[in-house]
Amino acid sequence: MAKILVYLETANGKIKKTSLELLSACQGHESHALLIGDGLKDAAESLKKYSVSSIHFVQNSALKNYNSSYFFAAALGVVSKVNPDVLLGSSSLGTKDFFPRLAAKLDAGFLNDCTTISIQGNSVKVKRPLYSGKCLAEAQFTENSKIKIVLMRPNQLPVPTEQASSPQLFEESFVPPTTGVRVKEVSQGASSKPDLTEAAIIVSGGRGMRDAEGFKILDGLAEELGATLGASRAIVDAGWVPHSMQVGQTGKTVAPNLYIACGISGAIQHLAGMSSSRVIVAINKDPEAPIFKKATYGIVGDVFDVVPKLKEEFKKILAH
Ligand code: FAD
Repeated sequence: MAKILVYLETANGKIKKTSLELLSACQGHESHALLIGDGLKDAAESLKKYSVSSIHFVQNSALKNYNSSYFFAAALGVVSKVNPDVLLGSSSLGTKDFFPRLAAKLDAGFLNDCTTISIQGNSVKVKRPLYSGKCLAEAQFTENSKIKIVLMRPNQLPVPTEQASSPQLFEESFVPPTTGVRVKEVSQGASSKPDLTEAAIIVSGGRGMRDAEGFKILDGLAEELGATLGASRAIVDAGWVPHSMQVGQTGKTVAPNLYIACGISGAIQHLAGMSSSRVIVAINKDPEAPIFKKATYGIVGDVFDVVPKLKEEFKKILAH
């Protein structure tokens, strides 16, 4: 049985689903939870619904917004106290920043962007896509890696069923370290939809949407499905939508339950960011478009005919 410390990210005082799913990988092991932020008492209490041995929360007004040095210091304090065999997190902008710092400090092995994980005794094996998803590497930590640090790609594991436990709660002390960087403000994007990396459904558009005005027909479909909007780089570069919406090698890596690609050819750099989606629906007027090789369902047709019809059909189905 391994001792696992799981870092669970929060947003607006709630634990993110992409973090809760990490608890699935801990079943059958001794698991400890780590929360870092401000105003975390409720989030920490909510974890009692899951099977964990202890909950460590580091809360401080200085941790309200992400700061690399602060989060690194907060996590390091708890890792030193718990002394886990495995440190687990969900791959995000923040963790991809401070987990490597932890690995360097702890002289630990580090594997990022893993899509599967198997922990048996002291052995940790993962799979991770390489070369823009062209191949899947199996990786294992060497014996001499004292702490094994793993970041999982979001939406790869199910959230475990609730199972009441009586973990000990520890509020850990925190003194902000001296650093040259202060985060003064974080401005929220206009969208109330989940971030692309956490979305369960994504409706994504490419150059086939004709222009910025044409792209807007995707709003209705996304609204109907409660989906987040994504985009190919071609239309980000053309200035139709912001870069925060870009999916792919130089954009975001996403893995929703449903990815609807509208007028996207399926270039390798786009596939790199979305090919581990559970179900992929592609709409393209070219039957030879490479996206169809990755799609679970393909619709050969004009997006301007197909998308409104899909929206109406979803509306009928979801009304029941
Ligand atoms: P196109 O390739 O032009 O495809 C448009 C598609 O729409 C075509 O298949 C066409 O048949 C279809 N179409 C046209 N009209 C209609 C219609 N009315 N109805 C239905 N279908 C229609 N790309 C990314 O997406 N993300 C990245 O992160 C990324 N990173 C990159 C990094 C590097 C280093 C490089 C070199 C490239 C990168 N690219 C990335 C760009 C990538 O190579 C492609 O150029 C881009 O993905 C193409 O976008 P697209 O599919 O929207 O456009």
